[in-house]
Amino acid sequence: MRRTDPFRTLRPRRAPGAPGGTRGAGPRRAHRRAAVLALAGLALLAAACGRAGSPPVKGPQPDQLPVYRVATGFELTDSPTWRAAKSRGHLVVGAKEDQPYLGEKDPASGVYSGFDIEIARMMSASLGFAPKTIAFRTIASANRETALQNGQIDYYVGTYTINDLRKRQVGFAGPYYIAGQSLLVRTDETDINGPQDLAGKKVCSAAGSTPLQRIQRDYPKAIAVAYDTYSICVDNLLSFQVDAVTTDDTILMGFAAKAPDELRIAGKPFSKEPYGIGVPRGDTALRFALDDAVEAHEKNGDWKKAYDATLGLSGVPAPQPPPVDRYPAS
Ligand code: GLU
Repeated sequence: MRRTDPFRTLRPRRAPGAPGGTRGAGPRRAHRRAAVLALAGLALLAAACGRAGSPPVKGPQPDQLPVYRVATGFELTDSPTWRAAKSRGHLVVGAKEDQPYLGEKDPASGVYSGFDIEIARMMSASLGFAPKTIAFRTIASANRETALQNGQIDYYVGTYTINDLRKRQVGFAGPYYIAGQSLLVRTDETDINGPQDLAGKKVCSAAGSTPLQRIQRDYPKAIAVAYDTYSICVDNLLSFQVDAVTTDDTILMGFAAKAPDELRIAGKPFSKEPYGIGVPRGDTALRFALDDAVEAHEKNGDWKKAYDATLGLSGVPAPQPPPVDRYPAS
């Protein structure tokens, strides 16, 4: 059985394609950090080796994943995005690469896996493109709208919350899942049990994300720290640079499942984050085609099979998928 590298998602890294450096945190103490990370690494290795009390570290198993039927003779000539992909011969899809069970990139093979990646593959099959031919591009939270606006990607699948503000810049098919904002802390943390406990605490989230905005707006006494990715936040949590990481429960559960001795979720979700497939704003033909595709794959069992083989590994059984919101063109 292939074992997922427990260090991979916890290693510090810059988000590819993200402009500028990290923001908001003070200077790093490299030696202390290295020592703490080494310790955390040892603990993770012990967990991965099945130390008593620790669940084994699991990853999506390729043989458990559905094979999606590729639509033949499919045409979507009203969609400029589809036409461009057709003449190119493949789709270019934006995703995350450091979110366990959602969007992860294997550093050795370059292969992407996770629930969002499976959604991207289902969409591709419905649009008449073999999922194997998708070129995935890692795009950080803060850069999604620009990537869709400037044609860098055809669509985006990566824990992307649908909201009215973003709908002014991009279109959304779906939703295909509803997450909720939550908090991740170290297991030794006793003070933080919900967002009400964040006054004076350093809370890390991704730049350009809805959880960061919510903390800044609704919990102004918290000290918000923003980086490009959540894996950098988790690294900072493990090395005692911040007190908590906040984002969707789906993402946090993945990190917690990979390091159960070091990390735990604190409290209950305190928002609704409906996940959509981001498309270029004016391309209503593509948006409606993807709405149809989401419904079809929910109905034929692909959605549940994909969930069980990926995000379900974080420990939450598959919920009922939410109804698709086919909002009119504006
Ligand atoms: N779902 C939230 C958002 O779209 C947080 C996760 C993310 O940054 O991708 O902002």
